[in-house]
Amino acid sequence: MFPGASEYGVDIAVDDGAVEELLQVSPNDVEAPPALTFSRNVFIPLTTACRYTCTYCTYFDPPGQASLLSLEEIREICQRGADAGCTEALFTFGDDPDDRYTEIHDQLADWGHDSIHSYLREACEVALEEGLLPHANPGDQTREQLALVADVNASMGVMLETTAEVGAHAGPRRKVPGQRLRTLQNAGELNVAFTTGILVGIGENWRDRAESLLAIRELHERYDHIQEVIVQPVMNNERWSDGSPDLATMRRVTAMARVALPEEISVQVPPNLAPAKDLIDCGVDDLGGVSPVTDDHINPDYTWPALRELEEIAAHANVPLGERLPVYERFFPPDLRTDGFDGRVADGADGGREWISPTIRDALEADDSAGERYRSVLRDETATVPR
Ligand code: SF4
Repeated sequence: MFPGASEYGVDIAVDDGAVEELLQVSPNDVEAPPALTFSRNVFIPLTTACRYTCTYCTYFDPPGQASLLSLEEIREICQRGADAGCTEALFTFGDDPDDRYTEIHDQLADWGHDSIHSYLREACEVALEEGLLPHANPGDQTREQLALVADVNASMGVMLETTAEVGAHAGPRRKVPGQRLRTLQNAGELNVAFTTGILVGIGENWRDRAESLLAIRELHERYDHIQEVIVQPVMNNERWSDGSPDLATMRRVTAMARVALPEEISVQVPPNLAPAKDLIDCGVDDLGGVSPVTDDHINPDYTWPALRELEEIAAHANVPLGERLPVYERFFPPDLRTDGFDGRVADGADGGREWISPTIRDALEADDSAGERYRSVLRDETATVPR
Protein backbone atom coordinates (compact mmCIF):
# COMPACT_ATOMS: atom_id res chain seq x y z
CA MET A 1 0.00 0.00 0.00
CA PHE A 2 1.36 3.42 -0.91
CA PRO A 3 1.90 6.11 1.75
CA GLY A 4 -1.41 7.82 2.51
CA ALA A 5 -3.42 5.50 0.27
CA SER A 6 -5.77 4.19 2.96
CA GLU A 7 -6.18 7.69 4.42
CA TYR A 8 -7.45 8.87 1.02
CA GLY A 9 -9.49 5.77 0.24
CA VAL A 10 -7.27 4.48 -2.56
CA ASP A 11 -6.99 0.73 -2.93
CA ILE A 12 -4.22 -0.07 -5.39
CA ALA A 13 -2.10 -3.19 -5.27
CA VAL A 14 0.95 -3.37 -7.50
CA ASP A 15 2.06 -6.91 -8.22
CA ASP A 16 5.63 -7.69 -7.12
CA GLY A 17 6.19 -9.84 -10.18
CA ALA A 18 5.16 -6.98 -12.47
CA VAL A 19 7.59 -4.69 -10.66
CA GLU A 20 10.42 -7.21 -11.11
CA GLU A 21 9.60 -7.60 -14.80
CA LEU A 22 9.57 -3.86 -15.34
CA LEU A 23 12.90 -3.49 -13.60
CA GLN A 24 14.42 -5.75 -16.27
CA VAL A 25 13.32 -3.46 -19.13
CA SER A 26 16.00 -1.66 -21.13
CA PRO A 27 15.80 0.70 -24.13
CA ASN A 28 16.50 -2.31 -26.38
CA ASP A 29 13.06 -3.68 -25.45
CA VAL A 30 11.07 -0.87 -27.07
CA GLU A 31 10.71 0.59 -30.53
CA ALA A 32 10.70 4.16 -31.74
CA PRO A 33 7.16 5.50 -32.36
CA PRO A 34 5.75 5.96 -35.87
CA ALA A 35 5.26 9.70 -35.28
CA LEU A 36 5.58 12.52 -32.76
CA THR A 37 2.93 14.98 -31.62
CA PHE A 38 2.83 18.24 -29.70
CA SER A 39 0.19 20.79 -28.70
CA ARG A 40 0.36 24.54 -29.06
CA ASN A 41 -0.53 26.22 -25.78
CA VAL A 42 -0.41 29.34 -23.69
CA PHE A 43 0.85 28.92 -20.14
CA ILE A 44 -1.35 30.71 -17.58
CA PRO A 45 0.04 30.71 -14.01
CA LEU A 46 -3.27 31.44 -12.25
CA THR A 47 -1.64 31.75 -8.85
CA THR A 48 1.84 31.05 -7.52
CA ALA A 49 0.51 30.37 -4.01
CA CYS A 50 0.95 26.77 -2.87
CA ARG A 51 0.43 25.02 0.43
CA TYR A 52 3.51 22.89 -0.19
CA THR A 53 7.22 23.71 -0.33
CA CYS A 54 8.80 21.02 -2.54
CA THR A 55 12.57 21.58 -2.45
CA TYR A 56 13.04 21.36 -6.25
CA CYS A 57 10.29 23.84 -7.08
CA THR A 58 10.73 27.47 -8.08
CA TYR A 59 7.07 27.89 -9.04
CA PHE A 60 5.66 28.78 -5.64
CA ASP A 61 6.14 32.16 -4.00
CA PRO A 62 6.05 32.61 -0.23
CA PRO A 63 3.07 34.29 1.45
CA GLY A 64 3.02 37.99 0.72
CA GLN A 65 4.76 37.53 -2.64
CA ALA A 66 2.39 35.16 -4.47
CA SER A 67 0.53 36.40 -7.52
CA LEU A 68 -3.04 35.89 -8.69
CA LEU A 69 -3.84 36.77 -12.30
CA SER A 70 -6.90 38.89 -12.92
CA LEU A 71 -9.49 37.89 -15.51
CA GLU A 72 -8.30 40.79 -17.67
CA GLU A 73 -4.74 39.46 -17.61
CA ILE A 74 -6.00 35.96 -18.40
CA ARG A 75 -8.03 37.25 -21.32
CA GLU A 76 -5.05 39.15 -22.70
CA ILE A 77 -2.81 36.03 -22.55
CA CYS A 78 -5.54 33.95 -24.20
CA GLN A 79 -6.04 36.48 -26.97
CA ARG A 80 -2.32 36.46 -27.74
CA GLY A 81 -2.38 32.68 -27.76
CA ALA A 82 -5.39 32.47 -30.05
CA ASP A 83 -3.79 35.00 -32.41
CA ALA A 84 -0.66 32.81 -32.50
CA GLY A 85 -2.69 29.71 -33.44
CA CYS A 86 -2.70 28.03 -30.03
CA THR A 87 -5.48 25.60 -29.11
CA GLU A 88 -4.77 25.05 -25.40
CA ALA A 89 -5.00 27.27 -22.31
CA LEU A 90 -2.74 25.52 -19.78
CA PHE A 91 -3.78 26.70 -16.30
CA THR A 92 -1.30 26.01 -13.52
CA PHE A 93 -1.34 26.77 -9.85
CA GLY A 94 0.14 25.40 -6.67
CA ASP A 95 -1.96 23.21 -4.48
CA ASP A 96 -4.82 24.86 -2.59
CA PRO A 97 -3.55 28.17 -1.27
CA ASP A 98 -4.14 27.79 2.45
CA ASP A 99 -4.69 30.35 5.12
CA ARG A 100 -1.04 31.39 5.04
CA TYR A 101 -1.92 33.28 1.85
CA THR A 102 -4.44 35.69 3.31
CA GLU A 103 -3.86 38.21 0.52
CA ILE A 104 -4.88 35.61 -2.09
CA HIS A 105 -8.05 34.81 -0.16
CA ASP A 106 -8.81 38.50 0.27
CA GLN A 107 -8.33 39.15 -3.44
CA LEU A 108 -10.54 36.22 -4.38
CA ALA A 109 -13.20 37.46 -1.95
CA ASP A 110 -13.00 40.93 -3.53
CA TRP A 111 -13.68 39.29 -6.88
CA GLY A 112 -16.66 37.38 -5.48
CA HIS A 113 -15.06 33.95 -5.05
CA ASP A 114 -14.81 31.83 -1.92
CA SER A 115 -12.40 29.34 -3.49
CA ILE A 116 -9.67 29.17 -6.10
CA HIS A 117 -11.73 26.53 -7.87
CA SER A 118 -14.72 28.74 -8.53
CA TYR A 119 -12.25 31.32 -9.82
CA LEU A 120 -10.59 28.72 -12.03
CA ARG A 121 -14.00 27.93 -13.47
CA GLU A 122 -14.47 31.57 -14.45
CA ALA A 123 -10.94 31.69 -15.89
CA CYS A 124 -11.65 28.61 -18.03
CA GLU A 125 -14.79 30.29 -19.33
CA VAL A 126 -12.67 33.27 -20.38
CA ALA A 127 -10.31 30.93 -22.26
CA LEU A 128 -13.26 29.30 -24.01
CA GLU A 129 -14.64 32.71 -25.00
CA GLU A 130 -11.27 33.48 -26.59
CA GLY A 131 -11.23 30.23 -28.57
CA LEU A 132 -8.89 28.11 -26.46
CA LEU A 133 -9.56 24.70 -24.89
CA PRO A 134 -8.72 24.75 -21.15
CA HIS A 135 -6.40 22.15 -19.63
CA ALA A 136 -6.03 22.85 -15.92
CA ASN A 137 -3.39 21.41 -13.58
CA PRO A 138 -4.74 22.41 -10.17
CA GLY A 139 -2.71 20.00 -8.04
CA ASP A 140 -4.45 17.66 -5.61
CA GLN A 141 -8.21 17.74 -6.10
CA THR A 142 -11.08 16.38 -4.07
CA ARG A 143 -13.91 14.92 -6.08
CA GLU A 144 -16.00 18.01 -5.32
CA GLN A 145 -13.25 20.40 -6.47
CA LEU A 146 -12.73 18.46 -9.69
CA ALA A 147 -16.45 18.31 -10.35
CA LEU A 148 -16.63 22.10 -10.08
CA VAL A 149 -14.31 22.63 -13.06
CA ALA A 150 -14.46 19.37 -15.06
CA ASP A 151 -17.05 20.45 -17.62
CA VAL A 152 -15.13 23.61 -18.61
CA ASN A 153 -11.91 21.68 -19.26
CA ALA A 154 -11.13 19.64 -22.35
CA SER A 155 -8.75 17.60 -20.20
CA MET A 156 -6.93 18.06 -16.90
CA GLY A 157 -3.79 16.81 -15.22
CA VAL A 158 -1.56 16.46 -12.20
CA MET A 159 1.90 14.96 -11.94
CA LEU A 160 1.88 11.90 -9.71
CA GLU A 161 5.67 12.41 -9.49
CA THR A 162 6.24 9.32 -7.36
CA THR A 163 4.37 6.90 -5.14
CA ALA A 164 7.29 7.01 -2.69
CA GLU A 165 7.78 9.30 0.27
CA VAL A 166 10.84 11.41 -0.58
CA GLY A 167 12.71 14.08 1.33
CA ALA A 168 12.24 16.53 -1.54
CA HIS A 169 8.58 16.79 -0.54
CA ALA A 170 9.70 18.66 2.53
CA GLY A 171 8.11 20.94 5.07
CA PRO A 172 5.24 20.73 7.53
CA ARG A 173 2.76 20.24 4.66
CA ARG A 174 4.03 17.52 2.34
CA LYS A 175 2.66 16.01 -0.82
CA VAL A 176 1.15 12.63 0.04
CA PRO A 177 1.29 9.94 -2.67
CA GLY A 178 -2.11 8.62 -1.60
CA GLN A 179 -3.68 12.02 -2.17
CA ARG A 180 -2.17 12.28 -5.67
CA LEU A 181 -3.48 8.82 -6.50
CA ARG A 182 -6.86 9.85 -5.14
CA THR A 183 -6.85 12.82 -7.53
CA LEU A 184 -6.17 10.46 -10.44
CA GLN A 185 -8.98 8.22 -9.23
CA ASN A 186 -11.37 11.16 -8.86
CA ALA A 187 -10.63 12.16 -12.46
CA GLY A 188 -11.43 8.66 -13.64
CA GLU A 189 -14.69 8.55 -11.70
CA LEU A 190 -15.70 11.89 -13.24
CA ASN A 191 -14.79 10.94 -16.84
CA VAL A 192 -12.01 13.51 -17.13
CA ALA A 193 -9.38 12.77 -19.79
CA PHE A 194 -6.24 13.09 -17.73
CA THR A 195 -2.52 13.76 -18.02
CA THR A 196 -0.08 12.64 -15.34
CA GLY A 197 3.57 11.80 -15.05
CA ILE A 198 6.59 10.92 -12.98
CA LEU A 199 9.34 13.26 -11.83
CA VAL A 200 12.71 11.55 -12.04
CA GLY A 201 15.60 12.26 -9.66
CA ILE A 202 13.87 13.60 -6.53
CA GLY A 203 15.12 10.81 -4.27
CA GLU A 204 13.03 7.90 -5.56
CA ASN A 205 14.70 4.59 -6.41
CA TRP A 206 14.19 2.26 -9.37
CA ARG A 207 11.56 0.21 -7.59
CA ASP A 208 9.65 3.42 -6.78
CA ARG A 209 9.72 4.37 -10.47
CA ALA A 210 8.38 0.98 -11.50
CA GLU A 211 5.67 1.08 -8.83
CA SER A 212 4.64 4.62 -9.82
CA LEU A 213 4.20 3.61 -13.46
CA LEU A 214 2.29 0.48 -12.52
CA ALA A 215 0.02 2.45 -10.18
CA ILE A 216 -0.86 4.75 -13.08
CA ARG A 217 -1.53 1.71 -15.26
CA GLU A 218 -3.76 0.18 -12.61
CA LEU A 219 -5.90 3.32 -12.37
CA HIS A 220 -6.08 3.58 -16.17
CA GLU A 221 -7.23 -0.04 -16.40
CA ARG A 222 -10.10 0.85 -14.07
CA TYR A 223 -11.18 4.11 -15.73
CA ASP A 224 -9.55 4.29 -19.19
CA HIS A 225 -8.92 8.00 -18.60
CA ILE A 226 -5.14 8.53 -18.77
CA GLN A 227 -4.21 10.12 -22.08
CA GLU A 228 -0.49 10.71 -21.60
CA VAL A 229 2.26 10.16 -19.05
CA ILE A 230 5.10 12.65 -18.77
CA VAL A 231 8.59 11.40 -17.91
CA GLN A 232 10.23 14.53 -16.53
CA PRO A 233 13.72 14.94 -15.09
CA VAL A 234 14.18 17.21 -12.09
CA MET A 235 16.40 20.18 -12.98
CA ASN A 236 18.87 22.32 -11.08
CA ASN A 237 17.55 25.75 -10.19
CA GLU A 238 17.85 28.31 -7.41
CA ARG A 239 16.16 25.93 -4.92
CA TRP A 240 17.55 22.59 -6.16
CA SER A 241 21.24 21.81 -6.62
CA ASP A 242 21.21 18.02 -6.33
CA GLY A 243 21.45 17.57 -10.07
CA SER A 244 19.42 15.83 -12.75
CA PRO A 245 19.20 12.19 -13.77
CA ASP A 246 21.80 11.27 -16.40
CA LEU A 247 20.95 10.19 -19.91
CA ALA A 248 21.22 6.46 -19.15
CA THR A 249 18.69 6.87 -16.34
CA MET A 250 16.29 8.82 -18.52
CA ARG A 251 16.58 6.27 -21.33
CA ARG A 252 15.87 3.36 -19.00
CA VAL A 253 12.95 4.96 -17.17
CA THR A 254 11.40 6.17 -20.44
CA ALA A 255 11.56 2.64 -21.83
CA MET A 256 10.00 1.37 -18.60
CA ALA A 257 7.14 3.83 -19.04
CA ARG A 258 6.55 2.65 -22.61
CA VAL A 259 6.47 -1.00 -21.56
CA ALA A 260 4.36 -0.42 -18.44
CA LEU A 261 1.63 1.60 -20.14
CA PRO A 262 -0.88 0.45 -22.75
CA GLU A 263 -0.25 1.75 -26.26
CA GLU A 264 -3.16 4.24 -26.21
CA ILE A 265 -1.35 6.25 -23.52
CA SER A 266 1.26 8.58 -25.00
CA VAL A 267 4.67 8.78 -23.38
CA GLN A 268 5.77 12.39 -23.28
CA VAL A 269 9.04 14.12 -22.49
CA PRO A 270 9.30 17.91 -22.18
CA PRO A 271 11.93 18.91 -24.76
CA ASN A 272 13.02 21.99 -22.78
CA LEU A 273 14.01 19.76 -19.84
CA ALA A 274 14.86 16.32 -21.21
CA PRO A 275 17.32 15.35 -23.97
CA ALA A 276 14.41 14.50 -26.25
CA LYS A 277 16.49 13.59 -29.31
CA ASP A 278 18.14 10.82 -27.34
CA LEU A 279 14.89 9.51 -25.88
CA ILE A 280 12.61 9.08 -28.89
CA ASP A 281 13.85 5.55 -29.56
CA CYS A 282 12.91 4.67 -25.95
CA GLY A 283 9.23 5.01 -26.85
CA VAL A 284 8.48 8.74 -26.65
CA ASP A 285 5.62 9.71 -28.97
CA ASP A 286 4.70 13.17 -27.67
CA LEU A 287 6.64 16.35 -26.96
CA GLY A 288 3.96 18.02 -24.86
CA GLY A 289 2.73 21.56 -24.92
CA VAL A 290 4.85 24.16 -26.64
CA SER A 291 4.04 27.82 -26.38
CA PRO A 292 4.87 30.36 -29.02
CA VAL A 293 3.84 33.22 -26.72
CA THR A 294 4.43 32.45 -23.02
CA ASP A 295 7.26 31.20 -20.82
CA ASP A 296 7.39 27.89 -19.02
CA HIS A 297 6.61 29.40 -15.61
CA ILE A 298 7.41 26.17 -13.79
CA ASN A 299 10.92 26.00 -15.29
CA PRO A 300 11.68 29.61 -16.28
CA ASP A 301 15.40 28.96 -16.71
CA TYR A 302 14.66 26.51 -19.50
CA THR A 303 13.01 28.24 -22.44
CA TRP A 304 10.68 26.37 -24.80
CA PRO A 305 12.30 25.26 -27.98
CA ALA A 306 10.92 26.83 -31.11
CA LEU A 307 8.75 24.71 -33.32
CA ARG A 308 11.75 24.39 -35.62
CA GLU A 309 13.60 22.54 -32.88
CA LEU A 310 10.70 20.12 -32.50
CA GLU A 311 10.90 19.52 -36.22
CA GLU A 312 14.60 18.82 -35.85
CA ILE A 313 13.89 16.27 -33.11
CA ALA A 314 11.34 14.55 -35.38
CA ALA A 315 13.71 14.68 -38.35
CA HIS A 316 16.49 13.20 -36.24
CA ALA A 317 14.16 10.32 -35.35
CA ASN A 318 12.99 10.11 -38.97
CA VAL A 319 9.32 10.36 -38.00
CA PRO A 320 6.61 12.90 -38.89
CA LEU A 321 5.62 15.61 -36.41
CA GLY A 322 1.94 16.46 -35.99
CA GLU A 323 -0.02 18.89 -33.86
CA ARG A 324 -2.74 17.61 -31.54
CA LEU A 325 -5.40 19.10 -29.28
CA PRO A 326 -5.15 19.08 -25.46
CA VAL A 327 -7.68 16.21 -25.46
CA TYR A 328 -7.02 13.15 -27.58
CA GLU A 329 -9.56 12.26 -30.24
CA ARG A 330 -10.28 8.82 -28.78
CA PHE A 331 -12.32 10.59 -26.07
CA PHE A 332 -14.59 12.22 -28.67
CA PRO A 333 -18.10 10.91 -29.34
CA PRO A 334 -18.47 9.34 -32.82
CA ASP A 335 -19.96 12.38 -34.54
CA LEU A 336 -17.04 14.63 -33.55
CA ARG A 337 -14.28 12.34 -34.82
CA THR A 338 -12.49 13.12 -38.05
CA ASP A 339 -11.69 10.88 -40.98
CA GLY A 340 -8.09 10.60 -39.78
CA PHE A 341 -9.07 9.11 -36.40
CA ASP A 342 -7.09 5.94 -35.74
CA GLY A 343 -10.08 3.99 -34.44
CA ARG A 344 -9.00 3.48 -30.84
CA VAL A 345 -11.96 4.54 -28.73
CA ALA A 346 -11.91 5.39 -25.04
CA ASP A 347 -14.16 3.16 -22.98
CA GLY A 348 -17.79 4.22 -23.34
CA ALA A 349 -17.08 7.04 -25.83
CA ASP A 350 -19.41 5.35 -28.32
CA GLY A 351 -22.30 5.61 -25.94
CA GLY A 352 -23.20 6.32 -22.37
CA ARG A 353 -19.94 7.72 -21.08
CA GLU A 354 -19.47 11.44 -21.62
CA TRP A 355 -15.80 12.39 -21.88
CA ILE A 356 -16.50 15.62 -23.76
CA SER A 357 -18.87 17.90 -21.82
CA PRO A 358 -21.59 19.86 -23.61
CA THR A 359 -19.53 23.03 -22.98
CA ILE A 360 -16.41 21.61 -24.66
CA ARG A 361 -18.53 20.13 -27.41
CA ASP A 362 -20.01 23.57 -28.07
CA ALA A 363 -16.49 25.01 -28.28
CA LEU A 364 -15.38 22.35 -30.76
CA GLU A 365 -18.47 22.82 -32.88
CA ALA A 366 -18.35 26.62 -32.79
CA ASP A 367 -14.74 26.48 -33.90
CA ASP A 368 -15.72 24.24 -36.78
CA SER A 369 -17.76 27.01 -38.34
CA ALA A 370 -15.64 29.97 -37.22
CA GLY A 371 -12.07 29.47 -38.26
CA GLU A 372 -11.46 25.75 -37.94
CA ARG A 373 -8.46 25.99 -35.64
CA TYR A 374 -9.29 22.74 -33.83
CA ARG A 375 -10.54 20.95 -36.91
CA SER A 376 -7.46 21.80 -38.92
CA VAL A 377 -5.32 20.35 -36.12
CA LEU A 378 -7.39 17.16 -36.09
CA ARG A 379 -7.08 16.87 -39.85
CA ASP A 380 -3.29 17.21 -39.77
CA GLU A 381 -2.47 14.27 -42.00
CA THR A 382 1.16 14.05 -40.93
CA ALA A 383 0.16 12.78 -37.49
CA THR A 384 -0.28 9.03 -37.38
CA VAL A 385 -0.23 8.41 -33.63
CA PRO A 386 -3.29 8.72 -31.37
CA ARG A 387 -4.55 12.30 -31.16
S1 SF4 B 1 5.96 21.28 -7.12
FE1 SF4 B 1 3.78 21.85 -7.11
S2 SF4 B 1 3.07 21.19 -5.07
FE2 SF4 B 1 5.32 21.32 -4.95
S3 SF4 B 1 5.73 23.41 -4.20
FE3 SF4 B 1 5.79 23.46 -6.44
S4 SF4 B 1 3.74 24.11 -7.05
FE4 SF4 B 1 3.63 23.38 -4.93
